[in-house]
Amino acid sequence: MMTATLDTQALKKLDQAHHLHPFTDFEDYAQHGGRIVSRAEHVYIYDSDGNKIQDGMSGLWCCNLGYSQERIKQAVTEQLAQLPFYNNFFRCSNQPAAELAARLCQVTPERFQHVFFTNSGSEANDTQIKLVHRYFDLLGKPDKKLIISRHNAYHGSTIAASSLGGMSAMHKQTMGLDYVHHIQQPHWFEEGGDLDPEAFGIAAARELEKKIDELGEDRVAAFIAEPVQGAGGVIVPPESYWPEVKRILDERDILLISDEVICGFGRTGKWFGFETYGTEPDLVTFAKAVTNGYMPLGGSLISQKISDVLLSGGGEFAHGLTYSGHPASCAAGLATLDILEETRIIEQGVVDLAPYFASRLLELADHPIVGQVRVQGLFAAVELVRDKSSRERLAPESAAAVHTRDTAITQGLMVRQTGDAMIMAPPFVTERSEIDFLVDQLAIALDRTGQHYGVMPSPV
Ligand SMILES: *Cc1c(COP(=O)(O)O)cnc(C)c1O
Repeated sequence: MMTATLDTQALKKLDQAHHLHPFTDFEDYAQHGGRIVSRAEHVYIYDSDGNKIQDGMSGLWCCNLGYSQERIKQAVTEQLAQLPFYNNFFRCSNQPAAELAARLCQVTPERFQHVFFTNSGSEANDTQIKLVHRYFDLLGKPDKKLIISRHNAYHGSTIAASSLGGMSAMHKQTMGLDYVHHIQQPHWFEEGGDLDPEAFGIAAARELEKKIDELGEDRVAAFIAEPVQGAGGVIVPPESYWPEVKRILDERDILLISDEVICGFGRTGKWFGFETYGTEPDLVTFAKAVTNGYMPLGGSLISQKISDVLLSGGGEFAHGLTYSGHPASCAAGLATLDILEETRIIEQGVVDLAPYFASRLLELADHPIVGQVRVQGLFAAVELVRDKSSRERLAPESAAAVHTRDTAITQGLMVRQTGDAMIMAPPFVTERSEIDFLVDQLAIALDRTGQHYGVMPSPV
């Protein structure tokens, strides 16, 4: 049982003493500790010190419908009472897993007819590699094993997923897989130089063509990419990028894996990011928002081109997780899909709120320390600079963005920072007045940061 009587200081001490946190400097945390989040409602989180903070990040890109969806909570509770667990190995299944697999195929294009469940996005991307390798093996093309990904991509944290990803800090700490190769990211603001965004988008896409030619089409199996890179800094690619990638892939026998762990289920304004950008992936990775973040669940959606091969006489697929298709997680997924479909919140809510969010956020483009504002659906980044035209950064080691983030949190707004960008992914149920709070508090935090670094006058 969770102890309700521990006071906040004692709880923090306990956490500091025993709990190692993900993506955290252990030594720093042991000394300084952190924040204990004790409850959440609608789009607000409450900590054990009594602070109320508006969540501009949907948890960690997952609670797209906020924290008060009773229907999901109830579906999980009822499922735990009915069947808390049984495995899906050895010719067994359960009702929520069977139904969710079918429902996920209904919300994706016709060619997706099969789902493989995992517990996370990382495991789902590991699964994608095995599916791709198996597919080409069964086709009698065992040399097609190489996977191309992009620098600064995020595909998860297991060894295979971090290897697919392009995060240099992660690569430094673990040897990557030798069959994964990386190309340039379509990040015009960071890497575009003198090219205009559209020309840069084409150039970045052609890196894929060059890499395939260099490695050999007979050895390259797949290209994996997020429609919009999320953790990398909400990198909305130039309009020219995806059509050119599509052309390159259409001309070749290379699979496309669309990592929709963030973009999926409405974030970019359509059900999936590949619909926003008009690509036709062979495999789709999902996780996070599929259960509104309430239960761990991920998986791979598999198009018929692949499943036709996997289902025709190849024998056993030697892969699986104890909790693949966990009944309580799948029940959460079903309830989430029910809400998404019945409320039409993607087709109406997001489509209605996104232009308002964009117009309010774009006001910040004139702010003295803002170099670029990127928005796609309810997904955004604000780049901080000292000089708008040269794109020179305000301070080394992203210190200005860290300062802005910490100031915003102190003012009651939870936003994140990646590199020199502030990034946001507000829940779809955020009200207009709450979008106003988000933008207004961010603007104040930017003012404070500008003053702190001496590029804006301090208040008298
Ligand atoms: C979060 C994320 C993952 C990893 O998902 P986990 O559930 O944390 O393993 C993979 N891909 C993308 C795009 C993500 O944002």
